[in-house]
Amino acid sequence: MDRIKNIAVVAHDNCKNELLDFIDCNRETIIKHNLVATGTTGRLVENLLSADNCEGEECKKVLRLKSGPLGGDQQLGALISDGKVDVLFFFWDPMEPQPHDVDVKALLRLAVLYNIPTASNRSSAEFLISSPYFDKGFEIKKGRFFEYANRKMQK
Ligand code: PGA
Repeated sequence: MDRIKNIAVVAHDNCKNELLDFIDCNRETIIKHNLVATGTTGRLVENLLSADNCEGEECKKVLRLKSGPLGGDQQLGALISDGKVDVLFFFWDPMEPQPHDVDVKALLRLAVLYNIPTASNRSSAEFLISSPYFDKGFEIKKGRFFEYANRKMQK
């Protein structure tokens, strides 16, 4: 992955304040990278990182997908499988079931499958963003998908 990374951010409603505080505390680092987010998280992050009354290029742009329960997690999963996400901060709620729990599981599965550095809570997020790799290039070791995709099947 390049020095400028594509960072995905998602937080369930009860975890949004924690994610926003994390981003605020690390804004100098985060603002240098490209951001993609589920709908509501993206709106809040964009507001947080943009100066008041900013216009045009002064405003930090976040690529906003659909809201998580409306398909945003699946859109993010598709971006991961297309190699378009380098790091995932996904603060999911361990205390409340979500209407889109299956999508959450699918997103986390793809993040593991594609070996994407992922943080699901504040401590792991702080560890991840403090990594020397965060502002450098980093080679993500790819899985052996060719063998799987071309495995022999009986007729
Ligand atoms: P939201 O979605 O950012 O639109 O709230 C988050 C989620 O529940 O996946």
